[in-house]
Amino acid sequence: MKEFNLIINGESVGTTDYFDVINPADKSVIARCPKATTVQLNEAVAAAKSAFPTWSALTYEERRDRLMQLADAIEDNAEELMTLLTKEQGKPTKGFADLGAGFEFGGTLAWIRATASMTLEPQVIQDNDTAHIELHRKPLGVVGSITPWNYPLLIGIWHIIPALLTGNTVVMKPSEMTPLTVLRFGEIAKDILPAGVLNIVTGEGEIGAAMTSHQEIQKIVFTGSTPTGKAIMKSAADNLTRLTLELGGNDAGIVLADADIAACAPKIFATSFINNGQTCAALKRLYVHESVHDELCEALTNMANSMKTGNGFDEDTDFGPLQNQEQLNIVKALAKDAKERGANFLCGGDVTDESGYFYPITLVSNINDGARLVDEEQFGPILPIIKFSDVEEAIDSANRLQVGLGGSVWSQNIEKAQKIASRLECGTVWINNHAMIQPDAPFGGVKDSGFGVEFGEAGLKEFTFIQTVQTFK
Ligand code: NAD
Repeated sequence: MKEFNLIINGESVGTTDYFDVINPADKSVIARCPKATTVQLNEAVAAAKSAFPTWSALTYEERRDRLMQLADAIEDNAEELMTLLTKEQGKPTKGFADLGAGFEFGGTLAWIRATASMTLEPQVIQDNDTAHIELHRKPLGVVGSITPWNYPLLIGIWHIIPALLTGNTVVMKPSEMTPLTVLRFGEIAKDILPAGVLNIVTGEGEIGAAMTSHQEIQKIVFTGSTPTGKAIMKSAADNLTRLTLELGGNDAGIVLADADIAACAPKIFATSFINNGQTCAALKRLYVHESVHDELCEALTNMANSMKTGNGFDEDTDFGPLQNQEQLNIVKALAKDAKERGANFLCGGDVTDESGYFYPITLVSNINDGARLVDEEQFGPILPIIKFSDVEEAIDSANRLQVGLGGSVWSQNIEKAQKIASRLECGTVWINNHAMIQPDAPFGGVKDSGFGVEFGEAGLKEFTFIQTVQTFK
């Protein structure tokens, strides 16, 4: 079994205690991963702190060169990294519409290169006979990154690259469920980045909690669940540590009577079941006008019935397993509640293969707000489809939950759709699509989905503070 090590101050280091990493497709132990001690966390933070003055003094161009070299190096190791992703996360190597490991890996490269190409220029806000006033964007210092298990590498990159580009140094903690791809990435990065610029510590929630209360960490960027986000905010309060919190969602899509169902159905299917539904901004509640409800249900069911769920390494697998037992239990519990309420399972709903954490693509109609499957973030391949007759009811339903990551409206009348979309209480709205993200478009949530944004210039700014430079003449 391959050994994995922490990355501290440019060195690959072991520890005294380890935890097992499981392959969700067959429940086998695939690796032992180091449980970093708090002493090792302190060493990682100290290394990042001492690397900061030199790294932050480089120009954007110099840091960009290193980050571009990093993208090239991980591209050279594509096969190994994608194999690790499938092994620990479960996502198929190929997979439905290429939304598997290749999608995450391709996205990782695209994001590094696009983000590293950006710059934050000083902004002149006054230049007259009295004074010249400029706003400079300065790096914060040591940034702590804490990530979840659904896109281990891609979400890590979303944290690390803007932090490093703007001149910060990083201590990162990947999810204990999926630490391997990131540790391997760290091995590659340590040969390219100066020692201490990127440190990786692995372990469970406690090591994450120790990061959030650490005096020498200036900012935490966290992607994960809402309860953990709230715990982090409390813990960060004592040191006034800055936060970006990308938390859970329960995105609603509203399909209007005039939607082109044949055109929408494949997009609705793809964006509901992307990464087996284990995507923060997947479409998770579908509100459909009664006049097109049956046609859409039929189209989605036909697609679902042509999909195969299985081991991600099998050539014909469209969807892999859920990543862990706890997630499978949640999905099963929500489905059970829906069944007890008399919901109609159009397909799926029964676990037939227990050799891994498999759950079939499942569509559920005859269900309403108030059911657990509608009200709770299901984070799995099960989509509730709710019929409506009045669009005002659908808008109220979309907004009634305490989360607000994304939302969508599906219609051929773009003006009408945009008006409805603007009334949705969420960070991103899509018309005739969902879950589409790109490196230059800010992405973030409102309400219990968190605050702060990632991507684009606004995302870069989250890793800086403004220094106002006032020169008097
Ligand atoms: P999680 O909150 O259980 O864990 C995320 C990370 O936090 C892990 O690394 C974990 O070890 C760490 N952690 C746990 N307790 C901690 C504590 N007290 N202090 C600091 N760190 C702690 O989330 P998860 O189950 O890994 O991921 C699924 C969740 O992530 C879903 O709710 C999903 O919607 C959300 N998510 C959000 C986005 C987004 O951009 N908004 C993206 C992906 C996933």
